[in-house]
Amino acid sequence: MKIILLGAPGAGKGTVAKQLTAIDGSVQISTGDILRGAVQAGTELGKEAEGYMKRGDLVPDSLIMGIMEKRLQEPDCQKGFLLDGFPRTIPQAEALKGLLVKLGINFDKVINIDVPRDVIFDRLCTRRTCSNTACQAIYNVKSMPPKKEGVCDKCGSPIVQRADETEEAISHRLDTYNEKTAPLIGFYEKEGLLKTITGTSSEAVVAEIKKSLGI
Ligand code: AMP
Repeated sequence: MKIILLGAPGAGKGTVAKQLTAIDGSVQISTGDILRGAVQAGTELGKEAEGYMKRGDLVPDSLIMGIMEKRLQEPDCQKGFLLDGFPRTIPQAEALKGLLVKLGINFDKVINIDVPRDVIFDRLCTRRTCSNTACQAIYNVKSMPPKKEGVCDKCGSPIVQRADETEEAISHRLDTYNEKTAPLIGFYEKEGLLKTITGTSSEAVVAEIKKSLGI
């Protein structure tokens, strides 16, 4: 499947994407995961992105499009891909449209996961992430704690609170979402590609996505 997952930070895009990859081997492409990996590895990209990310601001469109142009041409994308956290601005969506034409790729649908702001805020404050950038498994201290406190079930690395998941940064990220990313809902609605799913359980959201794709 080739889909774009839209939704505020904390709407569950990453969790849903991970469940969808198990269906047909489509790959999850999370620009946030790629950027965190670059920051930890200390690459040029990471150095450029780090300040924006810590503040909860968006990284410039040009940096993101450079990442995505390369990533979408990697062989593992041929089976399908789930775009998680990209596009995040109208210019990114327009550039993606041109890039997909250039690469001869059609995508199936844009899924907008709609979750109330208070649920999201609470979820992000209690979210924890595996510090191993090759893993980045997600936990929640209230609803989905790891078996052993502070340790990732999957790879044994420490789990941490992300630097951009302080209350102040979360608030700023949600405002940035409303201002810059929410307009994409109208953009894809006009293109006739949008399906909005309201739900807080990832299993229910995955079931709805499968239904809308006819799988
Ligand atoms: P995420 O893990 O998707 O919440 O992304 C974490 C941070 O990475 C965001 O707050 C942005 O600073 C940056 N980021 C991720 N994806 C994008 C994107 N498509 N455009 C701009 N910045 C991004």
